[in-house]
Amino acid sequence: MSNKIDVAILGATGSVGQKFIELLSNHPWFNIAEVAASDRSAGKKYSEATNWIMQSPLNKNIAELIVKNSEPNLKSKIVFSALDASVAGEIEENFAKNGYVVISNARNHRFDEDVPLLVPEVNYQHIDLIHQQKFGDGFIITNPNCSTIGLVMALKPLHDNFEIEAVNVVTMQAVSGGGYPGVPSMDIIDNVIPFISGEEDKMEKEPKKIFGNLINNKIEFANFKISASCNRVPVIDGHTEIVQVKLKSKPAKDEIINVWKNFSSEPQKLNLPFAPSKPTTYFDVEKYPQPKLHRNIDKGMAVAIGRLRDCSILDYKFVILSHNTIRGAAGGAILIAELLKSKGYLDKYL
Ligand code: NAP
Repeated sequence: MSNKIDVAILGATGSVGQKFIELLSNHPWFNIAEVAASDRSAGKKYSEATNWIMQSPLNKNIAELIVKNSEPNLKSKIVFSALDASVAGEIEENFAKNGYVVISNARNHRFDEDVPLLVPEVNYQHIDLIHQQKFGDGFIITNPNCSTIGLVMALKPLHDNFEIEAVNVVTMQAVSGGGYPGVPSMDIIDNVIPFISGEEDKMEKEPKKIFGNLINNKIEFANFKISASCNRVPVIDGHTEIVQVKLKSKPAKDEIINVWKNFSSEPQKLNLPFAPSKPTTYFDVEKYPQPKLHRNIDKGMAVAIGRLRDCSILDYKFVILSHNTIRGAAGGAILIAELLKSKGYLDKYL
């Protein structure tokens, strides 16, 4: 048929799994060959096992695939995991032990010493940690939390150019971040919920690993301070974050805007299919960014930034917005797979 690389999706019936299917349906390099989920879904046609909630119609070929168990007997050696965190840890480890490449959205292995927590534009050098992994012939790479991804992309050019000393972030997170069906409608309509279990801890820890330096095959965590407050708001897709930063060398506003406008990294250099052409886009319009207007910029893979202004507590404050299920989950994981492929890390698995 084609010379695309066969891939499998674990947790294919969930909301992130569906986003993988939507995004990979016409991917130039990857072909969805297998879908897997729990025993509840295994053995059924995909269209019967899933409650399709994506906006585009379900691809007819995928609809006919029979859902498999999430066991390491799949023929595709490249596996995207959108598994529920209650089961992801062990299942992903089993796949890696059995010679599969696992690119995961789940939190379970994010802080394993030898597992990269990867955002291709920010810390692509951390891929080399996989050589330390002892899972067996395969390896695991993790995608950070959806709110962390937007935050670290906006902070990366600031950290490289002006060195971050402290960050305070307050999030307004979309309901799709909690999976389907997520927060009950009676709880979220006409409301804001000022708590998302585990989220603040992730946002305060993950950036320090991502901005860490790989020294002697280990990550030395970055040591700037981060404080996070996370809220669930009645938006379907797109996490908005209000960020305050303290920078070591206090630059002028224009310098900050310039580094965002000029930010480009390895995925852009390699011209990867899912790479946003501009990872960070700054808007001068005061009322931007907004989830309804900007979550899909650059294929939903870029971070929209606006409202840079002085902060009387730290140095500057601004607003960022990123698509939580595209850049913050499935799209981010696909970009990792593209990076692995283009750098030759998948060769021995094909
Ligand atoms: P979800 O809608 O609840 O989907 C969970 C998936 O896991 C389903 O396919 C389910 O299959 C499968 N599963 C559950 N128990 C299983 C078992 N025992 N064995 C095998 N498969 C099992 O969750 P989601 O929102 O898509 O999130 C998936 C993962 O991505 C989670 O770890 C989440 O934390 C992470 N994540 C989510 C987002 C987001 O924006 N939603 C962003 C970043 C990361 P069945 O249908 O067969 O039960």
